[in-house]
Amino acid sequence: MSLRFNAISSISNEMENAVPQASAKITGIFGENVFTLKTAREFLSDDAYKSLVTSIRGGKKIDRSVASHIANGLRAWAESKGVTHFTHWFQPLTGTTAEKHDSFFTLKSDGTAIEEFDGAALIQQEPDASSFPSGGLRATFEARGYTAWDPSSPAFIIEIGKGKTLCIPTIFVSYTGESLDYKAPLLKALEALNRAAVDVCNYFDKNVTKVSSTLGWEQEYFVIDEGLANARPDLIQCGRTVYGAAPAKGQQLEDHYFGSIPERVYAFMRDYEQESYKLGIPLRTRHNEVAPAQFECAPIFEDANIAVDHNILLMDVMARVAKRHRLVVLQHEKPFAGINGSGKHNNWSMSTDTGVNLLAPGKTPKTNLMFLTFFVNTIKAVHDHADIMRAAIASAHNDHRLGANEAPPAIISVFVGQYLSKVLADVETRVGTKFDEQDEAILKLDLHRSIPELMLDNTDRNRTSPFAFTGNKFEFRAVGSSANCANPMTILNTIMADTLKKFKVEVDALIEKGEKKEIAIMHIIQQYIVASKKVLFEGDGYSEEWHLEAEKRGLPNLKTTPVALDAMLSDKAKTLFQTNGIYTHSELEARHEIELEKYTKTVQIEARVMGDLAINHILPAAIKYQNELLQNVNGLKSAGLDPSAYGSQLSIVKEVSDHIQFIHTQVHAMVEARKVANNIAHSREKAVAYESIKSTYFDQIRYHVDKLEHLVDDEFWTLPKYREMLFLR
Ligand code: ADP
Ligand code: MG
Repeated sequence: MSLRFNAISSISNEMENAVPQASAKITGIFGENVFTLKTAREFLSDDAYKSLVTSIRGGKKIDRSVASHIANGLRAWAESKGVTHFTHWFQPLTGTTAEKHDSFFTLKSDGTAIEEFDGAALIQQEPDASSFPSGGLRATFEARGYTAWDPSSPAFIIEIGKGKTLCIPTIFVSYTGESLDYKAPLLKALEALNRAAVDVCNYFDKNVTKVSSTLGWEQEYFVIDEGLANARPDLIQCGRTVYGAAPAKGQQLEDHYFGSIPERVYAFMRDYEQESYKLGIPLRTRHNEVAPAQFECAPIFEDANIAVDHNILLMDVMARVAKRHRLVVLQHEKPFAGINGSGKHNNWSMSTDTGVNLLAPGKTPKTNLMFLTFFVNTIKAVHDHADIMRAAIASAHNDHRLGANEAPPAIISVFVGQYLSKVLADVETRVGTKFDEQDEAILKLDLHRSIPELMLDNTDRNRTSPFAFTGNKFEFRAVGSSANCANPMTILNTIMADTLKKFKVEVDALIEKGEKKEIAIMHIIQQYIVASKKVLFEGDGYSEEWHLEAEKRGLPNLKTTPVALDAMLSDKAKTLFQTNGIYTHSELEARHEIELEKYTKTVQIEARVMGDLAINHILPAAIKYQNELLQNVNGLKSAGLDPSAYGSQLSIVKEVSDHIQFIHTQVHAMVEARKVANNIAHSREKAVAYESIKSTYFDQIRYHVDKLEHLVDDEFWTLPKYREMLFLR
C-alpha cells in the first residue's frame, strides 16, 4: 500500500493524541523558563542586578567581572531547573535560529570535575562562522565570527524532550565587526529610532528620554497530518506543494474562518501555547483563518527586539510540538495553490518611557499635534522608501503571495481611513496660507474620540492594503509568514529614524527664523503631506484599477524578488543605512548577495523537486493507468466487440499520452535551462534566470500534472491530494 493510503487509514487513530491536557493557569506558568528581572533579583547580587538593569534600560556595557557574577547567577537558576547545557542562541541569515550547546561541565587541570559558567562564556562565543551565509563578507580563511550577548533580551530555557538548555540571546558578527545576522542591525535601527524620536518628542514633552518601537505580530500557518505530509516530498523539501489539483471544495463556502477549531488542532494549539507561556511569549488570540486547515495566533505586543525573538522562538516551538501530535505546521507563505496564503502581519508603533503610544491620537491639542507629527512622518517615511520596504519582504516564498487575490499587492501604499484622510486633506488645503490662531482649530479636532470609534467600525478597515493604519498602530501586512520580523522591523525603524531626523532639522530651521514652534511643526507636516500624498490609497488594493492608478502615480510594482531586491543597492539606500549607522556599503552588498542566493537556491530546489516528482511519481502512475486501459481495450477487442465499445478508453489513453509527452518534454527543457542558468556567475543575473525558469515552466508543467491527477485512477496516485491534506485530520 502506498504511503498515501497508509496515512489516510491511520488518521482516525490519531485522535488519541488529541486528548486534551489539563491546562495550567497561564499566570501560574508564564515566564517560568525565563530569566526575568524578578528572577534575576533573586539570583544576583545587588551590584550584578543593578548592572544588568542599567544595561537593559540604557544599553550600557557590562564589564567582565560583573558578567561573571551574572553568569554564576544564571547557572544557579538554570541548574535549579535541571539544566546541564547552555548555548548562545542567534539568528543567522539562513532565516532560522542557530545554537551550539556546551555543557557547564568542565575538568580542572588537576582532573577535578566541576560545573562552571564564567563571564567570558556568557559574553562571547566563537561558533564556526564559515557554515553560515556571509555574502562574501568573510572569505573562508578568516572564517571566524563571534556571538555576543544581548542583555536586552532575557535568557531562557528550552526544553526538548527531557533535555533542558539555557539559551543566551546573542548577536552574530564577523571578526571585523560586520553583522552576520538579523539581530545586530535591528538593535542598531532601534537605537537610531530611539535617538531621532526622543528629539522630536522633546518638542512636546521634555520628560521623554527613551522611545522604543513596539511590535505585535500575527502568525498565520497551516496544520496538516504528518503521515500525509510525509507522503509529499514537495512539502518535505520545499515547504509547499508544487503539484495538486484544486479540490471540489476549497475555501469557496467560506466556512472555515472563525469556525470552531478541529479538536486535534485544538489540542496542538493548547500544547504549544503552554510551551510558549513558559517562555514568556504572551500569546493572546487563536483562531481559524480563511483557508481550510489554516490558523492564526497573535500575542500581546512587546518591545520590538523581544517580539522578534518571541516570534522566531514560537515558530520553533510550534514545529516541535506539532510532531508530538503527529501534525506538521506549514509556515510557508503559499503551501497550496489556489488556497489563501499565510502572512505575518507586523503591527508596529512607537512608545515613550512616559507611557505614550506615539501613534495613538491624543486628548489635547498638544498631544494631537504630537500624534499628527509621528503619523505624517510615518507616511513620509513609507513614501520615500517604499522600494526598500518592498525589498525587505521579498522572498521566493512571498512572491507567490504578494499580488495574489488574497494578499496585498506588491505595490507599497498606505491606508489611513476616511477620517484621517479628511484631516490630512484639511491640513493640506492650508498650503501657502500663513498659519494663524484659527488654524490651531485643527489641533482641537476630536481625534482621540473619533479615530478609535471609526476604527472599531470595520467598514473603515482595509484588508487589501500592505500598510494600514488601524487606530493606534500601523499594520505591515505584506510580511510573509515564514519571515523573520527582524528584517522588516529594521527597515521600518530605520526609515522612520531617518525621516524624523530630517523633520527635526527642518522644524528647527523655521524656529530659528522666528516661527512659533507649533506653527513651524504644522508647516513641515503640511509639506510632508503634499510630498507623500501619492502613497496614500484607500481603495481596493486587489483591483486592476489600482494597478493602473499606481502606475500613473509612478509607484513601483515589482512583482519578483530578484528585481525588488535592487532597491537595497540604490544610492539612496546606501546613504540611508550608512548615515543611520545600520549597514556599511559592504554589509548591504553582502545582504543583497545572500538574498539573491537564497532566492536562486529556493527556486532551484523547487525545480528539481518538480522534475523528480514528475518522473518518479506522476509519469509512472499515468503509464500504469494507461496500461490498464489498454489491457481493457485489448480484452474488449478480442471479445469481438465493436470499436465503439472502447472508443472512450482509447481517448483517455490518448489524453493521458498527450499530458505525458508534454510533461516529459518540459521537464527535460527545464533541466537544460537550469544548466544554462547554473553557469551564470553574476548572482543577480542568475536569480533573474531562475525567475524566468520558474515563470516559463512551473505553471505549465503543473497544469498538465494536475490534469493527470483528474484523469488517472485514484488508486494509482501516490501523492496525497489537496482534499485529503486540507480536510482530513
Ligand atoms: P485588532 O487587529 O482586531 O484591532 P488589536 O488591536 O488588539 O486587534 O491587535 C492586533 C495586534 O496588534 C496584536 O498582536 C496586538 O498585540 C498588536 N498591537 C496592538 N497595539 C499595538 C501597538 N501599540 N504596537 C504594536 N502592536 C500593537
Ligand atoms: Mg489575519
